[in-house]
Amino acid sequence: MQTIDTDVTIIGAGPAGLCLARALSGTGLRITVLDREPEAALRAPAFDGREIGLTQRSVRFLQRLQLWNRLPADQAHPLRQARVFNGASHDALEIGPSDPGADPLGWLVPNHAIRAAAFECVAASPDVELLAGVRVAAVDTDAATARVRLDDGRVFASRLLVAADGRFSETRRALGIATRMHDFGRSMLVCRVTHERPHEDIAWEWFDHGHTLARLPLGRAAPEGRRSSIVLTLPGAQMRAVQALDDEAFATEIERRCDGRLGAVSEVGTRHVYPLVGAWATRFAATRVALVGDAAVGMHPVTAHGFNLGLLGVERLAGLLRNAAASGADPGASALLDRYDRGHRRATAPLHLATRGVVGLFTDDRPPARALRAGVLRASASFPPFRRLLAALLADRDPAGSRVTGRHDRTEQGDGRPRAADRW
Ligand SMILES: Cc1cc2nc3c(=O)[nH]c(=O)nc-3n(C[C@H](O)[C@H](O)[C@H](O)COP(=O)(O)OP(=O)(O)OC[C@H]3O[C@@H](n4cnc5c(N)ncnc54)[C@H](O)[C@@H]3O)c2cc1C
Repeated sequence: MQTIDTDVTIIGAGPAGLCLARALSGTGLRITVLDREPEAALRAPAFDGREIGLTQRSVRFLQRLQLWNRLPADQAHPLRQARVFNGASHDALEIGPSDPGADPLGWLVPNHAIRAAAFECVAASPDVELLAGVRVAAVDTDAATARVRLDDGRVFASRLLVAADGRFSETRRALGIATRMHDFGRSMLVCRVTHERPHEDIAWEWFDHGHTLARLPLGRAAPEGRRSSIVLTLPGAQMRAVQALDDEAFATEIERRCDGRLGAVSEVGTRHVYPLVGAWATRFAATRVALVGDAAVGMHPVTAHGFNLGLLGVERLAGLLRNAAASGADPGASALLDRYDRGHRRATAPLHLATRGVVGLFTDDRPPARALRAGVLRASASFPPFRRLLAALLADRDPAGSRVTGRHDRTEQGDGRPRAADRW
């Protein structure tokens, strides 16, 4: 048995695990990241249909990690405005500025592009060791050490173990951390299509009767803006029927479900289906352990906040660990982990609960629920403070009003020094 000493072991080289590793680079801590996927799949992940809506705050954090500037130029699409529809009505609750020249509400970036850029960041960090294609056989922790044993006999002994292995985290389960899983009883299909009517960089969230549809704008506005990602949510059996359609019949089906609002639909891309299961770990920290990303909070995608909350947790944990490293303190100290647990719980609980409420109300087709949601949207539309609150939440602006205006915002001053905002 070979024991390898390291300071922080992260299980999971998904976007959350890789961003944490990158955020800890340069602190003097030795970071090891373990993933069961082969290296080729992490280096160049396959397109998985997910277009991740990023808040302005998330983008600023990705800029500081120097991940944002590694995204290919055509992979970040501005999201100017979101419109929420209910039932057959064409009246929408508009979130975000109506002025096409205004700063975007957020950005849409394909998940595989985020993963590839995060991998590149980590590969460029000499103090991070990434081991791909490995199998974790056991994990255990005590007051002094966290140990991860691989099935080839190697043991990683560290002062902190981070579970970043997704919403069905085996690490979390092996450590006995109970989790509230919520099966929404529906599946979500995502697929890129081309359509006749331009999208004008506007997203739709349409809570229709019998299904929920979202339209996420891809590429620039007209004349090119005729490509979008379609997000269709249905109960499992109906989803299987839609999946069985050939591309032509699927395009017709989307045209029909969109009630002609997209015009003719063509050029259907690959379809990807995800079961909708939420997760909320009862603890985000334990003895020498922290949970990040979906392993801590797995959100329903309807409010587009899963990875945004993941980044919030990464930012919080990395900040605490950087301070500990700077003062020579123990990165796995229980006081530090308690602070992370409390802070991240407080930051995520309201949105997690609100999302559950929105999904419950907007997917219930019984007449009282239909009437209630029509009332909620009407009240929101005629109550600007509520709309502004929603927009601020989506754009996640800080009180100082700092904002993101483009993909290649400078991260350095003219003389190459990082700007103050880029320092930790
Ligand atoms: C359809 C859809 C749309 C979404 N849209 C948005 C959006 O608009 N905005 C947003 O913020 N979020 C969105 N999300 C959520 C977002 O995709 C997730 O929050 C994010 O991918 C979670 O990243 P993660 O690193 O925590 O987990 P994952 O991406 O699940 O990565 C986990 C990693 O751990 C590895 N792993 C797992 N088990 C083990 C093990 N036992 N041993 C070793 N390695 C292991 C896996 O190989 C993987 O690399 C969406 C999700 C879906 C499904």
